[in-house]
Amino acid sequence: MPNLSKPSVATEDENETTASSTISLFDAIAETETGVDGDALEIIRIGTDANFISLFTHDVVPVSAHYLEATDDWSGTYAQCHGDVCPACQAGLSKTEYVLLPVLDRLEGQVKVLRITRQKGPGKLLTELGQVLAMPDRDRLVVRIVRSRNYVHQLTFESETDLDPALADAVRAFTEKVEKGVLHVKNVIPQYSIEEMVTHDKIAKRLLLVRKA
Ligand SMILES: [Zn+2]
Repeated sequence: MPNLSKPSVATEDENETTASSTISLFDAIAETETGVDGDALEIIRIGTDANFISLFTHDVVPVSAHYLEATDDWSGTYAQCHGDVCPACQAGLSKTEYVLLPVLDRLEGQVKVLRITRQKGPGKLLTELGQVLAMPDRDRLVVRIVRSRNYVHQLTFESETDLDPALADAVRAFTEKVEKGVLHVKNVIPQYSIEEMVTHDKIAKRLLLVRKA
């Protein structure tokens, strides 16, 4: 039997054990860029199962992103927009404006990032979070957050407790790294180079058909 699998891509991380399964080059790039000093900053997925978070900052990072769908050799991911020179914009792919808010995931005991669309109104995450952020002692509140199947977000207060020392340390370490510029919240959305983006099937096909400026 010939081996039809794609060759695996070696990552630059020496600690990484050699993976036998194939991974996308784009995924590898995303991993090395979001991980700083071994700490991978993750998006917290809000779905129909309840998550429990605490809020410790109201500082958000704005970011424009495109969703690049899965193709035969690509797993599908968000990608930061390149603004005026963005190939995804030139190809006519829709763009979404987000703000990124670091929060404490109380289930896993680590800082993660909420990706919030800039839509306002009842049930919209931005609006519902604003009410919690305005409360005093918000960092002691455990907030239950859940999203219905029709994308209505519900935030409720569950309890009020001091952070245990390990969680307080996690917040402090995160804040320090951001202040020193060694951890960038924005990088939780992968940033691909223009050269990489133009190779994505959905973009490449459209760029062949658009009028050159
Ligand atoms: Zn763009």
